[in-house]
Amino acid sequence: MTSPYETKQHQSAAGVVWHHTHCSAGDRARLKQQKPLCVWLTGLSASGKSTLANALEACLLEQGRHTYLLDGDNVRHGLNKDLGMSEADRAENIRRVGEVARLMTDAGLIVITAFISPFRADRDQARALFGAQQFIEVFIDTSLALCEERDPKGMYKKARAGQISGFTGIDSPYEPPQAPELHIDTSCKSVAQCTHEILAFLQPRILP
Ligand code: ADP
Repeated sequence: MTSPYETKQHQSAAGVVWHHTHCSAGDRARLKQQKPLCVWLTGLSASGKSTLANALEACLLEQGRHTYLLDGDNVRHGLNKDLGMSEADRAENIRRVGEVARLMTDAGLIVITAFISPFRADRDQARALFGAQQFIEVFIDTSLALCEERDPKGMYKKARAGQISGFTGIDSPYEPPQAPELHIDTSCKSVAQCTHEILAFLQPRILP
């Protein structure tokens, strides 16, 4: 089968030619008895991405699913520790995460990502790495006012005080998804209710 990486869009800058592996993504997924996919959570800081991603992963593991959670704050301590918060670096941050998520779905995993991922073009670039049913964009839609009220890490306070610049929602834009697979409003629902909504959507899509 042809890999999407063989297309012109994914051409290696060094001119390296794609090497086919003996075992396929399908082989790995069959062994795990699940359909791998990427659940891409996007929303403002403090909208609830990490909280819901963790709750979701715990539920999936309890069901015997094979998962991995890529969390925005954590990835910046390792894989992306060389990147800052400029628009170019934020785009590169998301590009790498998309590629890692794609590799992990190739390995047969259900991948959950929790990144603000404020720019539509960056999210669309990540989506383009996956098959049509494999990328589930979940818009964690929480108003800026409520996020600021929550402010679990005190980041909004710092941004308002001018101690951080380029903070999404304050002095850097957030482009909401136009056609997300799922739209979750955390303002009037509990963590358990929101998690259940996402899980219910995923359930038929991860069955082998
Ligand atoms: P993010 O990862 O988007 O920056 P966090 O998950 O770190 O956000 O923080 C969200 C905060 O909002 C947490 O303190 C969480 O307990 C709270 N919260 C309240 N209701 C919800 C809900 N329905 N879903 C997710 N988080 C919620």
